[in-house]
Amino acid sequence: MTNAIGNVPRAMTGRVVTSLHKAFFLRLPKVELHCHLLGAVRRETFEALSVKHRAPFSREDVAGFYRREGKPTGVLRVLRALESQVLLEPDDFRRITYEYLEDAARESVRHAEFFWNPTATLRDVGLSYAEVQASILRGMGDAATDFGIRSLLIPAIDREASAAEANEMVRLVIASRDDAVAGIGIDYRETDRPPELFGEAFRMAKAAGLRTTAHAGEFGTPWINVATVIDELQVDRVDHGYTVIDNSELVRRCVEKGVVFTIVPTNSYYMRTLDPERWAIEHPIRRMVELGLKVHPNTDDPTLHHVSPAGTWELMYSHFGYVARDLRTMMLNGIDGSWVDEDRKRSWRTQWTAEFDAMAV
Ligand SMILES: [Zn+2]
Repeated sequence: MTNAIGNVPRAMTGRVVTSLHKAFFLRLPKVELHCHLLGAVRRETFEALSVKHRAPFSREDVAGFYRREGKPTGVLRVLRALESQVLLEPDDFRRITYEYLEDAARESVRHAEFFWNPTATLRDVGLSYAEVQASILRGMGDAATDFGIRSLLIPAIDREASAAEANEMVRLVIASRDDAVAGIGIDYRETDRPPELFGEAFRMAKAAGLRTTAHAGEFGTPWINVATVIDELQVDRVDHGYTVIDNSELVRRCVEKGVVFTIVPTNSYYMRTLDPERWAIEHPIRRMVELGLKVHPNTDDPTLHHVSPAGTWELMYSHFGYVARDLRTMMLNGIDGSWVDEDRKRSWRTQWTAEFDAMAV
């Protein structure tokens, strides 16, 4: 996958993407802060693991999972199929971790912080948290050795499950504590599952010294969810967060605090609900940048969204109209929002800015 961009409406900016631009988006140094391990599974790996575990999916079914329409339905049903019927042994998780990081490293992602939801795997498949985490960490270690990519794992709460299951997940993360597991997140269907339901899990995580992030304001869900994750859950950054723009006082506080929003240009909800002719013009990402919020573009579910890391940066230029100085700011926002130590952030800011300026077109 190289500078992959899926089925998105045509650009209205009039910006021409040359081969020099493509090379720039491919090579610019990147962190990736918002990618779900199960949303990054290669299609051929999905097929191979389906055969291995005799999952009830034909090749046509798998092709359907990976089809991306102009007005896409969400990807949650695909993630559920993977959880319950395809990823059945710890080594399956090592494989998909290694492959995700190989694909990311190829597009100059130098550091990836990625999500994995343990709850359904433990409950429905019966694997143990410790053995799956160990397999994922093995994949991360092998990828670091083979491709030079650093990474941190973020176990994420399945918000469709109960608060008790979220608390249990956090207890397991603490019991299997490892430096490569930096913090927790929360995702899956946000509608009717507001963040305050999971306050106790976030308090336990913070008390144990874990970092935190949360999906909020993803499905057109109201700004109050963004306010809740910032004020009550006290997260270190926000995933999506688009509806923050509906409350100017909240925006002001986020700008003041320098909250980093990991945004996703290929987010299914806005591609489905906005007029294709106006999609990239009316997208809340534009308003977030205008208001001075710190955004950083990410793939989210790269193989399912048909987008690669370089592709997200290309979209920011071709469809959203951002030029090199804007993209440099976004690159630095990503470093600010990452969970590596301050010394490393300082050296990345200096080195990556120099590299960026030397190659920018
Ligand atoms: Zn996400």
